[in-house]
Amino acid sequence: MAVASLEIYKILPGTNCGDCGHPTCLSFVNDLVFRGKNPDLCPHLSPADRQKISDLVRAGSPRKLESYGQVMFHPLETAIKRVQPLNFSYLSALMNEGSVYHAEDNSLTLPFLNTKLTVTKEQITDEEGTPLPPGFQTAVYNFLATVEKIHPENQWVSFKELPGAVFLSSYFVNNVEGLVSGQFSTRTDQLISAAKTLGGKILEDPGISPADVKISFFIVPKITVRLLFWDSTEEDNLPAVATFLFDTGIYRLDLESLTYLIEELVKRMIATL
Ligand code: SF4
Repeated sequence: MAVASLEIYKILPGTNCGDCGHPTCLSFVNDLVFRGKNPDLCPHLSPADRQKISDLVRAGSPRKLESYGQVMFHPLETAIKRVQPLNFSYLSALMNEGSVYHAEDNSLTLPFLNTKLTVTKEQITDEEGTPLPPGFQTAVYNFLATVEKIHPENQWVSFKELPGAVFLSSYFVNNVEGLVSGQFSTRTDQLISAAKTLGGKILEDPGISPADVKISFFIVPKITVRLLFWDSTEEDNLPAVATFLFDTGIYRLDLESLTYLIEELVKRMIATL
């Protein structure tokens, strides 16, 4: 049954508080849509919003996921509200890995790929002092709001195997991984060069995967992803394939923020071509 997952998701509070027993609002959508769970399990919905969700699940009208970055994100204001109670000094000590707390203005320096972001509780800027796009700021604030619960386990899975990813996995495969395979097909050398420019490390261990190229990217503290790439082959007429792998311990970060951060990585890789 096709249902209006996106509409349901937009009604939920988007705080990923976990009170419904799910790590994120998005994984709760999956249970509402595919397992017939009761919207009452989210205690933060008004009666009117509960009714709207019940109606959408019942109607089961098909909807198409269009522009992920513009449609999916809850507003930046919501993410900013989430970080107000956080103790940046504590988080910096928790993350280590290059993050630095500045007591004089209660800000954080946060590494992102090979760059450093400046994070205050009002905005996030790049190394030139330019505010990041709202979606990017939302993703980073959401990361900070959940970083305490992220515990890498060194177990690697594809996007669709992450909890709650059913709803977004075709988007991720087609629009994120598909972009990498399309842009870097027959360009393995450029892929390696782009990865190194962004601080990626080429993994040589054949035990990880038989892929032609294996790259490890440090995204932000506690979040490292792997990119596996098989180039196209003329003799077998096979297209290039790119797959990202994620540590199972990062599931507390909502998938839309994770997707945004990976899209940003891909955008920067392509910009090196
Ligand atoms: S859906 Fe779940 S995670 Fe989202 S706000 Fe409601 S209780 Fe919290």
